[in-house]
Amino acid sequence: MRNALGLMLASVVAAVVIAAGGWFYYSSRADQAAPKTIAARAADPLPAQAKLAAKDDVATTAAIAAKPAAPAPAPAPAPMPVQQKSTCANPNALGVSRVVEIDTTGGPGFGFDHFKQFDFLTDKEVVLTFDDGPWPVNTPAVLKALADECTKGLFFSVGKHATYHPEILRQVLAQGHTVGAHTWSHVNLNGKKMTEQMAKDEVEKGFSAVRFALGTNPAPFFRFPQLQHNPAIVSYFGTRNVAMFSTDIDSFDFRKGATPEKIIETVMTRLDKLGKGIILMHDFQKHTGEAMPALLARLKAGGYKVVQMKAKTTFQTLPEYDEALLKDLKVPTSSARPIGSVVQTVSQ
Ligand SMILES: [Zn+2]
Repeated sequence: MRNALGLMLASVVAAVVIAAGGWFYYSSRADQAAPKTIAARAADPLPAQAKLAAKDDVATTAAIAAKPAAPAPAPAPAPMPVQQKSTCANPNALGVSRVVEIDTTGGPGFGFDHFKQFDFLTDKEVVLTFDDGPWPVNTPAVLKALADECTKGLFFSVGKHATYHPEILRQVLAQGHTVGAHTWSHVNLNGKKMTEQMAKDEVEKGFSAVRFALGTNPAPFFRFPQLQHNPAIVSYFGTRNVAMFSTDIDSFDFRKGATPEKIIETVMTRLDKLGKGIILMHDFQKHTGEAMPALLARLKAGGYKVVQMKAKTTFQTLPEYDEALLKDLKVPTSSARPIGSVVQTVSQ
């Protein structure tokens, strides 16, 4: 009897502890107040010629319906989690030398291949960016290499991939990286049959998908597939306050015949010439994950420092696209909460 009572008491205590743990976790994820923007700034002028600097090899699929479904109430916007200060177990880690916060008002552009207005990196500074994920094996390999060096990157997720592997994208965010979007289905937004409405649908649905996977709003950061800057969308981002990212150093890791060695040589050769820059890589690519440990070692040996880019505010998705996405995914509207708001890993 005493044992049974003791067991009951223990159960109650355990339940309280679990509940308290959950409360603490959610409390610790309290929103960072998203400061309001002050003044609108004109979007960067469109580059004279959007050049095909990268040809990604992610399969594209049919464009989504031109006309979004009628507006429906959106799930409550999820807060941007406060990043926990993690301790670095590697005393010689590459680390993060500084974090920059981007005010995306007016849709600024970064990466000198196309946008030359904001020269914010100083000598020997680099930004690590990864496109096309999340993807099994390859994205976790990139994450591990970054974690081993206690450094951070910026990930541009393909919306569809985010819905296939939301748990991987949540890991990206949980490990303190910045997550932006890269369209819904990785189509060329400058494509011949691409109407302005189709391009907007690709962009908005991509952001909605990333938000759905994360369970929270992504950063208002975007990279055009194949670096094809659709002029109408560049203007549109000015009104949506989305920052656009081109590159300074293309790793060409998507090319046929790419090897970890070639990727590292391509990056380091160009970087040593420029002295700094935003590096474009793909966590979707197997060789990139394999190249990362040695590439980070080379960066460290070369005296390069990693800058992390974060956004001052989060991206606010449009309810009609959240709704269209849920219909696509055949998620009943009655349980339309993003997966990340329902299931959370609270300890591992
Ligand atoms: Zn891509």
